[in-house]
Amino acid sequence: MRLRNIKNKEEIITNSSYIISDYKEYKGKWNKVFQNDNPIHIEIGMGMGKFIVNMAINNPDINFIGIEKQDNVLARALPNIPSDIKNLRVLRLNALEIDEVFDNEISLLYLNFSDPWPKVRHNNRRLTSTIFLNKYEKIFKNNKIIELRTDNESLYTYSIETLSSYGYSLSEVTFDLNSYLPNRITTEYEDKFIKKGNKIYHLKASK
Ligand code: SAH
Repeated sequence: MRLRNIKNKEEIITNSSYIISDYKEYKGKWNKVFQNDNPIHIEIGMGMGKFIVNMAINNPDINFIGIEKQDNVLARALPNIPSDIKNLRVLRLNALEIDEVFDNEISLLYLNFSDPWPKVRHNNRRLTSTIFLNKYEKIFKNNKIIELRTDNESLYTYSIETLSSYGYSLSEVTFDLNSYLPNRITTEYEDKFIKKGNKIYHLKASK
């Protein structure tokens, strides 16, 4: 996601009540942040946050954490989040560090319209490369569940390969999520791609 530079982004980010800056302090004890033992779902690459915010509002018994590495994106997303959503937090974090932040406590990981990294030599940067799958091993509580949405065929087929050879079973595999699940909470990218007429691919990987 490319956005113009925002001047006071540091201030916007650090002052947001949703941001947890000392995230490594909570490794293994995120239930303390939410003050309950409800399941925790995370989205890596939350972008403008439409999906994670609406998921949190609609599912008060699940805790949601949005993760985003780009300050320019965060500085635009954070001011638009309605205030006082108790079951939502946001981390300014590169997912490469995710195993330093969570320890056996995540129930579900959403990967929505992740950067496709089309060049073969950049495959390792894909959020479903084995580099990342190794890191995700440590964050999940019991069952490992990853839900992926993309309009990018190459990222989708690559992910089917990496996830299944890593031991994940795939379900809810569809090349047309709009027909499969017409009433769902969408992401900003998803809305944009649907408008363009692109098909939305989806899968659920469990282990
Ligand atoms: N999920 C949103 C945004 C998709 S764009 C939507 O569907 O609308 C992908 C987003 O992932 C970008 O904002 C990018 O900055 C973020 N991202 C990519 N790699 C990341 C990483 N390693 N850690 C955290 N965020 C990442």
